[in-house]
Amino acid sequence: MRFDVLTLFPEMVENYFNFSILKRAVEAGVVSVNTINPRDFAANKHKKVDDTPYGGGAGMVLMPQPYVDAYESVEKLENSITVMLSPQGAPLNENSVKKLAGYEQIILLCGHYEGFDERIREIIKPVEISLGDFVLTGGELPALCVIDAVSRKLEGTLGKIESAFDDSFADGLLEYPQYTKPREFRGLKVPEVLLNGNHKEINEFRQAERIKRTKERRPDLLN
Ligand code: SAM
Repeated sequence: MRFDVLTLFPEMVENYFNFSILKRAVEAGVVSVNTINPRDFAANKHKKVDDTPYGGGAGMVLMPQPYVDAYESVEKLENSITVMLSPQGAPLNENSVKKLAGYEQIILLCGHYEGFDERIREIIKPVEISLGDFVLTGGELPALCVIDAVSRKLEGTLGKIESAFDDSFADGLLEYPQYTKPREFRGLKVPEVLLNGNHKEINEFRQAERIKRTKERRPDLLN
């Protein structure tokens, strides 16, 4: 899977891949991440990428020329999708993550300041994805969330792909509670059933906990 990220702050994105599971995924060749800075494509003397909004108002808007030229410079693979990170997009969820994991290339457009000149949308025609009903300062964190969530779905990112099968949302339910050593901590004991080695009982306990937890916390998922 190849990720091409258009961002004015490439280091914010690149640094994320210096750690832990995604670092290993890059090293193993499961994913590759490429950043493109629209500022490098600005056709004006001062490499300006934003300007004041027509009609007035606070903040700066990303100019179309640097962004569109940067986008057009990206090599497009056959099975490719372009995603604009935007609070106005469809909320990211397990289903959209699964669909995105089926592509060979995801091109991610990160906004900043007041966001994109509308003509960037009109020309590029991306799918718009939101992280939720709140506004962040830039699209870099949402882009990293997309990359991270999609990468977990790819064979070779996690030590064992099975570890994702029981995750929350994988089949619509939240995950069961997890425990590790010690058996007792501050008077709180690990449930006996998890210690007896009976896998049938363990599975039944976990499934019951998943349903209970989902009912309590996210009844909307059961509906
Ligand atoms: N003025 C825009 C609006 O109200 O729709 C918000 C611009 S926001 C300050 C700057 C950039 O951050 C956006 O262009 C987008 O890339 C990113 N961003 C902010 N909130 C986001 C969210 N909830 N989901 C995805 N991207 C977001």
